[in-house]
Amino acid sequence: AAKRAGGNRVQVYTDELRVPVQQKIAAEARVRRALAGDPRLTLPLWFQPVVSTETGRIVGAEALVRMRTPDGEILSPFHFIEAAEETGLIVPLGEHVLRTAVEHLLQWSDRLGYISVNVSPRQLAEPDFVPMVESVLAALPGFDRSRLVLEITETALFTSAVDVSERLNALKRLGVRIALDDFGTGYSSLTWLKSLPADIVKLDRSFVAGLAEDARKASIIEAVLWLARSLGMSTIAEGVEEQADWEALRTAGCPAVQGYFFSKPLPSPEFEAMLLKSIERGTFEGVHLDETMG
Ligand code: C2E
Ligand code: MG
Ligand code: MG
Ligand code: MG
Repeated sequence: AAKRAGGNRVQVYTDELRVPVQQKIAAEARVRRALAGDPRLTLPLWFQPVVSTETGRIVGAEALVRMRTPDGEILSPFHFIEAAEETGLIVPLGEHVLRTAVEHLLQWSDRLGYISVNVSPRQLAEPDFVPMVESVLAALPGFDRSRLVLEITETALFTSAVDVSERLNALKRLGVRIALDDFGTGYSSLTWLKSLPADIVKLDRSFVAGLAEDARKASIIEAVLWLARSLGMSTIAEGVEEQADWEALRTAGCPAVQGYFFSKPLPSPEFEAMLLKSIERGTFEGVHLDETMG
């Protein structure tokens, strides 16, 4: 239909439509190459610290996958996760992410409390997902499994053909913890809380950024903190970019936060350096904690 389009606007529109499809095909090929072990095209994990509001220390990290291209460019998941999901490549990619994340956690074992890994709805629906996680854990006798956190988004609830609650219960039985990612952005946040066995609520950054100047955001955050606490869950606020937001979250009693104010996701050597520094100083670099805090 767009073939005979006369105006520039429509022309631009069709170009925009075509490019992502080509990019997706290219992304798929690259993910395939990387998973096949091409040393010039890799899928490294970057790590973003999760910081305790009580101590200012790094308590955990979220593992976020990147793609390193042959010319050294680093691509965000935006460029390849969707293609991986649509083609099913997310399944081997997810296994790679899980194994690599656990390896890093073991390497930082006495310095880092936990590591969290994102699990897409497609992965969760895979019949082999729970056995795969189990086999990764079975190779690590003595490993405290609660130090592995799996992050699930709300979309898993309505895009999945499987019983998500049943699947999460099976994961819980393995001993890992479950976090509800991007909490508040879907259509079923309360359903999540009602029926799913989760340990952590990750409050989406759309409620967090600018909360210090937005009374409505602050009220929503207080309510979610209260709700999570009542249900025996912990809360992590995502997307903390400003000192004022960090202060407000700390005052509101949000146990932990994540965001550019502390650090962007970092390659593993840089994350490790930050981890060491955070432990030496007892507080997070650049963050002032008053004497009154624990
Ligand atoms: P997410 O799980 O919600 O991860 C948080 C995203 O927010 C990350 O983007 C992180 O870099 C970004 N972020 C963190 N702090 C701030 C902040 O203060 N301000 C702003 N504006 N952004 C912040 P990233 O790394 O690009 O990842 C995007 C999404 O891709 C993730 O969202 C997650 O859904 C997905 N993803 C990443 N790695 C994986 C993976 O290994 N497997 C799967 N299935 N999905 C992944
Ligand atoms: Mg996440
Ligand atoms: Mg998130
Ligand atoms: Mg997100």
